[in-house]
Amino acid sequence: MHLCFATNNENKLTEIRQLIGEKFTILSLNDLGHSDDLPEDYFTMEENSLQKAQFINDKYGVDCFADDSGLEVESLGGAPGVHSARYAGPQKNDDDNIDKLLNELRTSNVRKARFRCVITLVLGDMEYQFVGIVSGNISRHRSGAQGFGYDPVFVPNGFNRTFADMSAEEKNALSHRGKAMEQLVDFLAKLN
Ligand code: IMP
Repeated sequence: MHLCFATNNENKLTEIRQLIGEKFTILSLNDLGHSDDLPEDYFTMEENSLQKAQFINDKYGVDCFADDSGLEVESLGGAPGVHSARYAGPQKNDDDNIDKLLNELRTSNVRKARFRCVITLVLGDMEYQFVGIVSGNISRHRSGAQGFGYDPVFVPNGFNRTFADMSAEEKNALSHRGKAMEQLVDFLAKLN
């Protein structure tokens, strides 16, 4: 069965292809010949991931899933949230985003945060959502060179290292996206 993952992020594609087994062939946006940005017009990850999956399903008529994720910092009222990629501006620069975050939290001792990932699967005329969360704290300084985004300042609960200090395998086993993908894979495995 063919299923599109509405992304061109190679890391995410590799991860899901490893998890999903032989029953499904995962197509990327490239495989469909789609090169434009996907619409993300809403203010929640639930709505944005649904919008992206529905857009591809409508346009190409394939079963499809899309993810949307972000960092939610408790003392910032859940910011940057859906604006995580563009927190410091439209240039979508990871370093600028981290600088802004550390600056916002410079006087705060409450540094609780979580990553959240919502995957929406559009299968025929049905829609399903899977949510993965990993909780932790924002460190005062960057550490580590792996990963992307806010990984250098995110310390998951139970660890004293950031996501950027961990290998991809170690992070995937803990991460919001890994957890949401596990639920998706479990769901798909039970389909006839
Ligand atoms: P996306 O929805 O996966 O594209 O993620 C949106 C933004 O959230 C990214 O550009 C990052 O800034 C942030 N983000 C999401 N997941 C992660 C992660 O696993 N590590 C670090 N930052 C992340």
